[in-house]
Amino acid sequence: MTAEIICVGTEILLGNIVNTNAAYLSERLAALGISVFFETTVGDNPERVEEVIRTGMKRSDILILSGGLGPTKDDLTKEIAAKACGQELVEDAEAKERLTSYFTSIKRPMTENNLKQAMVPEDCTVLYNKNGTAPGMVVNAPEDKKIILLPGPPGELIPMFHEQAEPILSRLQPGILYSKVVKIDCLGESYVETQIMDLIDEQSNPTVAPYAKLGEVHLRVTAKADSEDEAKELVMPMVEELKSRFGDKIYTIEEDETLEEVVVKMLESRGDKIACAESCTGGLLAGRLINVPGASNVLEESFITYSNEAKKKYLGVKEDTLKAHGAVSEETAREMAEGVLRASGADIGVGITGLAGPGGETGTKKPGLVYIGVSRKGNTVVKKYDLRGNRAKIREVSVCRALTMIRKALSE
Ligand code: ATP
Repeated sequence: MTAEIICVGTEILLGNIVNTNAAYLSERLAALGISVFFETTVGDNPERVEEVIRTGMKRSDILILSGGLGPTKDDLTKEIAAKACGQELVEDAEAKERLTSYFTSIKRPMTENNLKQAMVPEDCTVLYNKNGTAPGMVVNAPEDKKIILLPGPPGELIPMFHEQAEPILSRLQPGILYSKVVKIDCLGESYVETQIMDLIDEQSNPTVAPYAKLGEVHLRVTAKADSEDEAKELVMPMVEELKSRFGDKIYTIEEDETLEEVVVKMLESRGDKIACAESCTGGLLAGRLINVPGASNVLEESFITYSNEAKKKYLGVKEDTLKAHGAVSEETAREMAEGVLRASGADIGVGITGLAGPGGETGTKKPGLVYIGVSRKGNTVVKKYDLRGNRAKIREVSVCRALTMIRKALSE
């Protein structure tokens, strides 16, 4: 079965937004065992959208469109898809009811154009939107093809695709596909790949595919079989093999679990409180922890100690240390981690100091040099990292490395 992704939006063509929907959909379709041979971005222009849909219908079994489902005049994806399938739009009673109650709940009048969102092609399955107003649709197109229409905002598209479209796509596939993801947080992609070269064979069942993520590597193991149990029986021994190769470098094998969730759970189960002192990451570590529901049980406090003065005042970093070794040094990271532990009374303290660049280098210290200290139970570990990338990437990857160090400290 082949699928084609079509993203509608002039903003994407102008470079105003990054096409993360295409990346997400490509990855999920690969995991479902559906081949994607074409991916197109087209502006909000009715003729061109129609041309792309008609071309896609000739060469692919499934078209997946993102964007252009909103209430405004230039949101025309649904109308054009219906026309290409020779269908009329009809009102969907449940979609209308959901729209009406949404506007009642936010105490705002519903304008006429909002009702446009309750209109759907006559032969389709409606995908109701829990996170927005525009419903999605799986339209039954001629020759047993499908056109899946999804809203543009990723916060709406991702849950709708995962929860509602994926089960439909799985049913269209002969056989069952089952996959597990093995998430590794402290090794580089090329190293991981060399360790599993013998397992990466596209023709095998199960397949193992590595995906590089920011600061992490994910290995997706996928098998195809007649039943889910059979597919699981093929997948699980491979997951065990990966566990034996990567051991505690694996932080989870749960699809939706993130590194920060694992860290928060570990803190919760130990009854430990954490405190952070961040310089170059400026609160990003605390932000990622606070993204996890339940963080309030484990995050005691967090300091953004960007200047030397703040490092001295709030954490007790010594003037001598800063003079002798500099703010970006092993000694400063150690004193930050130990200082925040003292100041907060938490059980585990983290100090991050580094040069995010560009510029700011002094002597041998270049952008990307980051020191992270983690202090727990009288033991402080400091690690030095030489990270690559722009300012944003260096800051984000520093947070990933800090989370890995915290996970390790909590495992000991
Ligand atoms: P809405 O009901 O919000 O109008 P829509 O289905 O009409 O949704 P668009 O108007 O095309 O979608 O896009 C809405 C927003 O969704 C965009 O401004 C952008 O922030 C985001 N978005 C759209 N397409 C993509 C994409 N391919 N990748 C990432 N974000 C996207």
